Amino acid sequence: MSAQPERIRLLVIGGGPAGHEAASTAATLGASVTLVEESIVGGAAHLWDCIPSKTMVASARRLAAMRSGGTLGVSDPGEIDVDMPRLSDHVDSITNKLAAGFRELLESQRVELISGRARFTGPNSAEVTTDAGLRSLEFDAALISTGSRPWVPDWAEPDGERILTTRHAYHWEKRPEHIAIVGSGVTGVEFVHIFASLGSKVTLLVSRHHVLPHRDTEVAMELEADFLERGVVLMKGSRASSVQRTGDGVVVTTQDGRSVEATHVLLAVGSVPNSEDLGLDLAGVTAERGFITVDEYQRTSVPHIYAAGDVTGQLPLSSVATMQGRKLARHLMGHNVRPLDYPKVTQAIFTEPEIASVGLEEVDAAAVGRKVRITKVPFASNPRALIQAAPRGFVKVISDPATRVVLGGTIVGKNASELIAVIALAVQSRLQVEALVETLMVHPSMTESLTEAAE
Ligand SMILES: Cc1cc2nc3c(=O)[nH]c(=O)nc-3n(C[C@H](O)[C@H](O)[C@H](O)COP(=O)(O)OP(=O)(O)OC[C@H]3O[C@@H](n4cnc5c(N)ncnc54)[C@H](O)[C@@H]3O)c2cc1C
Repeated sequence: MSAQPERIRLLVIGGGPAGHEAASTAATLGASVTLVEESIVGGAAHLWDCIPSKTMVASARRLAAMRSGGTLGVSDPGEIDVDMPRLSDHVDSITNKLAAGFRELLESQRVELISGRARFTGPNSAEVTTDAGLRSLEFDAALISTGSRPWVPDWAEPDGERILTTRHAYHWEKRPEHIAIVGSGVTGVEFVHIFASLGSKVTLLVSRHHVLPHRDTEVAMELEADFLERGVVLMKGSRASSVQRTGDGVVVTTQDGRSVEATHVLLAVGSVPNSEDLGLDLAGVTAERGFITVDEYQRTSVPHIYAAGDVTGQLPLSSVATMQGRKLARHLMGHNVRPLDYPKVTQAIFTEPEIASVGLEEVDAAAVGRKVRITKVPFASNPRALIQAAPRGFVKVISDPATRVVLGGTIVGKNASELIAVIALAVQSRLQVEALVETLMVHPSMTESLTEAAE
């Protein structure tokens, strides 16, 4: 009788979207998988990032909708407010539920879960610091999926009470009276939306001329219009240079000498990779400014060690980390894998209106001088948008003028994060605009504007 082939021993360090998806996929395909996580399975994505922030967005949105029912002829419900401790409990309950689900799934797939902090001791070995002591592990292949954490500038010292990073933003006794938000990228504007909807006074420090500096100006203008309507103070061209605590609040000072007094400040100024203390040098893995260098299959400089998710500095999205994890596990297990096509990644910003995009954006086409056909329809003429009192925003479809293939699209409007799926499918499948034009959408629906915009 021939001997059973040895199962590949895969060590996964970090159980965020990249790590747990890779562990689950590799285990399903027959690998013997050990996942080491020092916090919760689900990772920062579930504890501090996507899930808690979107849970708060949902509550903020419900509150804003209840307050604005008058437009739809609904009587004023009287005094309604947010119960911050209950909202914090709600955030925790969702996080715990999802983390328990992931653990159960991985356990059912016989993934060994170790609670602790891992570091390499060589190219095929690692040690894990656990509550029970040090444990040594040997592996045939490994995945580094240790994620990232908020970047803290040297002029600020977060204390978790008044000076906050996004990791302190979900547990409140009462709503912040006046919150200054530093950083007007995706994370910053989502928190503006949350706190403005919950009824806090919000001041946003915008270092450039517009929020979302890397996106279409039209997109930024729609969002700024909403913020201004809701009384958000936009301090444009103001780069924060210091944050000081004052008894009951904070003072944020900017490089040009302006200052803002608030009860709290939230820093949303980017992130840094969790790659120090991993023993990368002992494993022979190279990194640049802390981001681990990978090829299109997520292999590091050591071919049997992969890296995925935020620690690689590629597109920092949970959806991307998950897809990378799935693909690299299949690659490891000898399956044919098509590398991830980053320009086709669908992205959303959970503000009101929502902002979603996929494929080529107008700014990208302009930057490389590519000739494209751009068609745009505002939601202001869409019956469903008017019925819902959500006329703000537009659908923009970008196609190739010669082949008529859909290259990309941007949607600003109610539920844009869901509507974009239609354009994403067209981009992914290289459909021509006619495919969108000829798809008979529901009437009245927001999707009708997608058909119209493709014409
Ligand atoms: C406020 C905010 C909101 C966001 N919202 C969204 C969103 O709506 N949609 C979206 O797609 N993306 C969103 N993102 C981005 C998303 O959270 C990240 O892209 C995603 O978490 C990256 O996943 P990851 O697998 O790289 O690791 P992470 O989720 O960062 O998890 C890494 C894990 O590794 C563990 N770890 C680290 N070092 C070790 C070690 N040495 N040993 C053991 N364990 C270790 C950590 O404890 C952590 O659990 C948001 C980000 C922020 C900051």
